[in-house]
Amino acid sequence: MDGEVITQAAGAQPGRSLLTWMRRARKGDTPRARAKRMMSASQLIVVLAALVMGATLLAGAIGYELARQSDERLWSEQRASLRNAIGEFRNLFGKADEVDPRFVRMVEQSVGLADLKFEINPGLSERELQPVMDAQGRIAGFLTWQKAHPMLRAMQRLMPFIAAIAIVLVGFAGISLAQLARVRHELAASEEFARRAADQDKLTGLPNHAKTLELLDLALAERAGDDVTTFALIELDGMADVNAQLGVLGSDELIAAVARRLKQALPAQAVCGRIGSDEFAVALTAGSGVDAGAILRAALEAIARPHWIDTVVRISAHAGFAQAPRHAETRGELTRRAGLALRAAAKKGPGAIVGFERAIDTVSTDQKFIQRELPRALTANELELHYQPIVAAQGGRIVGVEALLRWTHATRGPIGPAIFIPVAEQMGLMDTLGAFVLRRALHEAKRWPDLYVAVNLSPLQVRDASIVELVREALAESGVPPARLMLEITEGVLIDNPDEMVKRIEDLHALGVRIALDDFGSGYSNLGYLQRFPLDKLKIDRSFVTALGNSANGGVIIQAIVALGRALGLSVLVEGVETEQQRVLLRLAGCDEMQGYLFARPAPAKAIDRLLAQAKPGRTPSPVEALTA
Ligand code: C2E
Ligand code: MG
Ligand code: MG
Repeated sequence: MDGEVITQAAGAQPGRSLLTWMRRARKGDTPRARAKRMMSASQLIVVLAALVMGATLLAGAIGYELARQSDERLWSEQRASLRNAIGEFRNLFGKADEVDPRFVRMVEQSVGLADLKFEINPGLSERELQPVMDAQGRIAGFLTWQKAHPMLRAMQRLMPFIAAIAIVLVGFAGISLAQLARVRHELAASEEFARRAADQDKLTGLPNHAKTLELLDLALAERAGDDVTTFALIELDGMADVNAQLGVLGSDELIAAVARRLKQALPAQAVCGRIGSDEFAVALTAGSGVDAGAILRAALEAIARPHWIDTVVRISAHAGFAQAPRHAETRGELTRRAGLALRAAAKKGPGAIVGFERAIDTVSTDQKFIQRELPRALTANELELHYQPIVAAQGGRIVGVEALLRWTHATRGPIGPAIFIPVAEQMGLMDTLGAFVLRRALHEAKRWPDLYVAVNLSPLQVRDASIVELVREALAESGVPPARLMLEITEGVLIDNPDEMVKRIEDLHALGVRIALDDFGSGYSNLGYLQRFPLDKLKIDRSFVTALGNSANGGVIIQAIVALGRALGLSVLVEGVETEQQRVLLRLAGCDEMQGYLFARPAPAKAIDRLLAQAKPGRTPSPVEALTA
């Protein structure tokens, strides 16, 4: 992202500046690195130019001074030799009132000064003077000659070049400085751009998850006196269907449209962020009279108005919210409680808006309790297995038992498996729990050699290939024939990862155990799909049985499912049989086995012993047999 951002912001224009060469990308260079490199190079050039300019000017000044001193030395040497020459030639030509021109010529030849003249009144000129005395010791005139500046003249000829170099350097340093300022500005702009992009959801332009939480923190910190900060979560309903209908691009368009509607519908001071693919969050601080429910209602209504995405699309949403300081003071607690309210709203259905209430939090309090207590329960013998008989539809004989886990907490009493098993899965305790159930069930199954024992496997257990080894070991330890073990798995796990599951079921089959599909009909319910999996038994979910008495078609549906199961070569069991009417209908529908409160509730192993003892041949028929005779 950085790369794109910088390219946009820096807008490189090759050839426009002296530093263009520095913009050339090195292998693996990012635009930001390139901009930084340009900045360092510009800085270096400015410094170098300043140094060279300084050195040039200094050299010029020193050179000038040296030239001046050298010229001075030349003059004083000339003066001294002239004085000597005048002294020597004075005797030769006498001390005349008038200086003999031969005298001047001879002096001239002896000291090598070409333009030597004798002048009585030399006047003010640039010429150098040397007095000549007459016989009386008075100044008779002056020998004059032009002062020579050989070094200075040489320096003067050099000066334009030095000045030119200095001007070029000043210009270069100036351009580099300007370039430096520009790169600095661009870098700062691009960094700002990148920072903003990192905070933004690309699709909607709204603050993303992290930024929304940051803004919520700010809102909580700035909340004054009576103000109330509402944190709401809004989740769209049925986005999976929308995805299927519109495709990814259409769904993106819809999400962007929803975001725009939300922004328009919410008060200007509200912070609205996108925190998940189909989830938005709103943080709003307002006076204590604020009606968060009404604001959210308006927002949901805005979302629900038809959208045009090549066709008319309707989408609904539900929302949950919590408020500070009423429900929570801290961000963590506020968002957690808003999440709970959202879950409660999801349960109510599309368009629901739920404000947090203490009652909603009980589930999570339970979860915390379970998380704390379950590891201890495993070692404290609080977990045991109950068994629910499975009877043959014809004759009512008990043919098997399903092992169902029970937890009786020392102070809390019984806690249902549907509550604590998901927590055990979350906590990574399912391995231990699953192994406990399997070993205990096989150990207790030894008491009932004529029955099979059904053991439930959680999706997590089935996904883990080590289950095969666990089953092998548990069978070997117990000595129970593998054919007497029925493993129950659920549909979801098959559909998530079909190829791996086919292999897993085959591996388990190879041990000699049988596999039942539990709760069939409660989830994906695709009988055709089941053909792929080598299953042995279909356990039809209780919900179908409940529907039996409620609708005229109930019987037909269950009949069709039983027929299809049979066609796939599966034995069919129906769960949750509670009434005599259901039993009769199910027997007519052709199911093979039944399980339910009508026959027996799950009970400890000892109770199953008693039930089986009653059912022994020669004894009075058990209630189950009496029912199904
Ligand atoms: P499931 O495997 O479908 O077990 C049948 C559930 O239906 C049991 O609930 C049973 O008590 C209940 N039930 C049986 N007959 C009737 C009836 O006539 N009417 C009604 N209303 N209910 C009936 P339970 O024991 O609460 O277990 C719930 C679920 O927890 C089980 O559903 C199973 O999925 C899971 N579970 C139980 N024990 C274990 C276990 O050891 N391991 C795993 N992984 N899951 C287990
Ligand atoms: Mg089961
Ligand atoms: Mg079931």
